[in-house]
Amino acid sequence: MNFAEHLKNQLNIVDVIGHYVRLKRQGAGQRYVGLCPFHSEKTPSFGVHSALGYYKCFGCQEGGDVFKFVQQIESLTFPEALKVLAERYGIPMPERERPHDPEAQRRAALEEMYEIATETFQNNLRSGSGTEARRYLESRGVSSASMDEFRLGLSEASGQQLVQRLQKFGPVLLEESGLVSKRQEGGFYDRFRARLMFPIHNEGGKVIAFGGRALRPGDEPKYLNSPDTKLYKKSSVLYNLHRAKIDARKHNRMILVEGYMDVIGVYSAGIHEVVASSGTALGIDQVRAIKRQISLQQAGTGQIVLNFDPDPAGARSTEKYISSLLAEGLRVKVMEIPGGLDPDEYIQQNGAEGYRNGLANATSYFQWLADRARTKFDVRTAEGRVDAFKFIAPVIEQVHDRIERSAIANEIAEYLKVDRSVISETFRRQGVRQTNPQRARDKNLDIPPNEKILVSCLLVSADARAVIEQYLSGSPLLPLLELRQIFEAAFALSAEGASFSLEALTGRVDGRLERILIDVTFSDCTVQEESAAEQAISCLKALESKSVTAAQQQLKIRIRDLEREGNFAEALRLADELNRVYERPTKT
Ligand SMILES: [Zn+2]
Repeated sequence: MNFAEHLKNQLNIVDVIGHYVRLKRQGAGQRYVGLCPFHSEKTPSFGVHSALGYYKCFGCQEGGDVFKFVQQIESLTFPEALKVLAERYGIPMPERERPHDPEAQRRAALEEMYEIATETFQNNLRSGSGTEARRYLESRGVSSASMDEFRLGLSEASGQQLVQRLQKFGPVLLEESGLVSKRQEGGFYDRFRARLMFPIHNEGGKVIAFGGRALRPGDEPKYLNSPDTKLYKKSSVLYNLHRAKIDARKHNRMILVEGYMDVIGVYSAGIHEVVASSGTALGIDQVRAIKRQISLQQAGTGQIVLNFDPDPAGARSTEKYISSLLAEGLRVKVMEIPGGLDPDEYIQQNGAEGYRNGLANATSYFQWLADRARTKFDVRTAEGRVDAFKFIAPVIEQVHDRIERSAIANEIAEYLKVDRSVISETFRRQGVRQTNPQRARDKNLDIPPNEKILVSCLLVSADARAVIEQYLSGSPLLPLLELRQIFEAAFALSAEGASFSLEALTGRVDGRLERILIDVTFSDCTVQEESAAEQAISCLKALESKSVTAAQQQLKIRIRDLEREGNFAEALRLADELNRVYERPTKT
């Protein structure tokens, strides 16, 4: 067994994918569903089969095994995916298996550089020269435990510390890392100088970037971020996601705040499902990353709470975020903090309990928007009220559900005292039609149920495979089956002594059958491994008797036609054949 196979046997695909996607078990079976991480969707069409170690999206057709998934979601090569999984699950990897392609080595080197930088910054903060920075953090309510947990650090003022520590990686990697800048006259200097350093992690928990806050008054910009690199894409990473997702799933909620300090403040108060984006806009990848953690299946659950600073910039961000989140079908609430305080300041003054109360009282986004519109327009005049409504309308249009959309529009119109005719004029558009992946799938599954179940048996149990092969090999039933090719492929695998897997099977059938095979894997007919052999036999018998009946019927029709034509000799010959078919013993 090679290392990849060994590793695959140790991994549970539901665990691995569950690291990125909130999965829900379907019934008592081995199938799980969730929102696809590879395309935008509102109802889950992404399936994972635990026993078969396979995932499939019926929306975008992505699918494969656990390695393919990690490769895709982390944009890694196959050897890199092996390495990531081996490290994450503590499975020792033989030296010769380590990735040797240049791309993978470069990425590994960059990760190492970020780790060195993180440790360097942490040590600076803990040392004597970090006193002032530590005092600042303490004044903002950050305990030393939180400093350690968030791996906060301090960059040195000289601008040469990292350049020296990272020298061994060479100038090309140095430049690529985004940790240093190039001097016009040659040579490098540290990108971050005399700044409070916030490491930014990827979903796997590795440091891939930094946010640096200026400590000296007058230093611009106040926040300096890492540039995009091979490891980091600003628009797709959320600060603290790797920690937040556990509680986000537990409480079915994610709180979005503006800055690193807010995240640390809220998190340290014991509310862990909190993240921040590093920009004023929310990228599609960021929205999806949040959505993957939140259940959309039960009405009223799966909330996003926006809690931004109570200033005009914060309000503008809130508006933009509401739009992007609604467009993805998320439920949005807005939490406003009284007294013009930032979230972390508010927690310092009012404690965790105060913040929790604020969360519980968060208002729906449309109420927040209506209140905002009221401050922008003169709602004492009819014109102003219509303008206020028109200001909110584009956001309401993002709501996909037609009934919900018109309910919200009515509610806002009432709140703003706008005439109903204005609403109907604004919302005369058609509702957004959504293609239903379930329906597309069922069409594909237009095959006899017994054959479907038989394929399920074939997939889940070696005993069932043996029974099916014994029964069908050379049987006149086999050529009559719609899924004949699938069974033949399975028999061929066993004849070659190859090990059985869904991928081996899909590799041997045409595209249509491959789809059917995967559909069956994730369809609602689940067969338990223990009873599969028994179930296979009853399916085979049912299929056989059905095929006999069908053959009989065909012959009877033909005989009748022949009699009508006066061809009695041929009719008689067929009647004989009919008797033979009728009497043919069925195999057991
Ligand atoms: Zn998909």
